[in-house]
Amino acid sequence: MRTWIKNPLAVWTGNDTDAGNGIVIDGTRILELVATGSEPSEKCDREFDANGLVIIPGLINCHHHFYQTLTRAFPEALNKELFDWLISLYPVWAGLTEESIALSTELALAELMLSGCSTASDHHYLFTNQISTAVDIQVETARNMGARVVLTRGSMSLGKSNGGLPPDSVVQDEDVILAESERLIQAYHDAKPGAFVQIALAPCSPFSVTQNLMRDSATLARKHGVLLHTHLGETEDENEFCVSKFGKRPIDLLDDVGWLADDVWLAHGVRFSDDEIARLGNAGTGISHCPSSNMLLASGVCRAKELEAAGAPVGLGVDGSASNDSSNMMQEVRQAFLLQRTRCGSANISHEDALRWGTAGGAQVLHRPELGTLAPGSAADIAMFDLDELRFSGSGDPIAALVLCGAHKVRHMMVGGEWRVTNGELVGVDVARLRARHQELADQLTARA
Ligand SMILES: [Zn+2]
Repeated sequence: MRTWIKNPLAVWTGNDTDAGNGIVIDGTRILELVATGSEPSEKCDREFDANGLVIIPGLINCHHHFYQTLTRAFPEALNKELFDWLISLYPVWAGLTEESIALSTELALAELMLSGCSTASDHHYLFTNQISTAVDIQVETARNMGARVVLTRGSMSLGKSNGGLPPDSVVQDEDVILAESERLIQAYHDAKPGAFVQIALAPCSPFSVTQNLMRDSATLARKHGVLLHTHLGETEDENEFCVSKFGKRPIDLLDDVGWLADDVWLAHGVRFSDDEIARLGNAGTGISHCPSSNMLLASGVCRAKELEAAGAPVGLGVDGSASNDSSNMMQEVRQAFLLQRTRCGSANISHEDALRWGTAGGAQVLHRPELGTLAPGSAADIAMFDLDELRFSGSGDPIAALVLCGAHKVRHMMVGGEWRVTNGELVGVDVARLRARHQELADQLTARA
């Protein structure tokens, strides 16, 4: 079945190709880009009128904690920086249930998809004794919604009694972590291009896991050909913790355990020196820049341009909804644009840099060359925005308008050739039911703390 998405207002392909007269999709993939003034090379079965729509590749979110949608604007965590913020929230998160994991996953994916995000990574690291099946629940939820996901099996093993930051109630035995990680890879990881579910391994951070777990997770990931992910270089507190506990900066610890490599991506990457940026670039280690979270927790500004120039792929992440407190990927593109401009100046950052990080950059970080651009053979992950809001009135360049005027909601989106948002509504999701039950579960969770 061939569909011609025709007559758009503008198309940003991410690869400088002209698709001024639309895109032909065939099944799950893009078949052809139709240049301005051209027609598809072969007859199509269907046409979709994209009149007035601005089309970009589906956005790719490289870092999130879906469960944190349950603790947005949590009063005890307000106005704190990372370590104190985490210490206020760990005991609340210890009360997650199977239903709250399912509903927070569904809600976060709903927010993301409505904002133009077709591929989302999640980092779930809260595994208490009661719940070992969080990732299984997330797989089922994402499949039901038709979202493309890279679910990372997170872990914490260094509890407070052993000098770590998290309370002992939320850390797990390392043998259990490794056995569960392998089970999830074997059960769900799909290595094929166009996969809807992939698994990666993600020990949480230098202050919540041991070096042994980092090493063993890398061995296990490489045995199965899956990626590795962690938080690194987020704050100065982290640098001080690592120097005082291990006598090394975070990046040296990363190097020691075999993680300075191109099958690794790091969330944040704010606190790196020039030399460390060069090492990350040489290794090809990916970075998920999380501008809103870094601003909210006053962590600092990732040197995204320098990392990219050094050879480190850069994507964007909304980060957890307790440190953003939103999961809007299109708004994150705008945040990256504005934040990087304050540091680099107008001549050095354009709206297209930010769009690239939110699309092809993320695809490179996640080793998914079939995603992130509109090209023949790529997955048919296509986000379509209209400009029918007051905020767009008077705008000139429609692509620049998405970023500069603050687009925040798609009109339509397809993932793998299937419509997942039509006329601004999610397909197959009862949003009123989702919101009501999610709020009830959030109230229960925070009341327990
Ligand atoms: Zn995070």
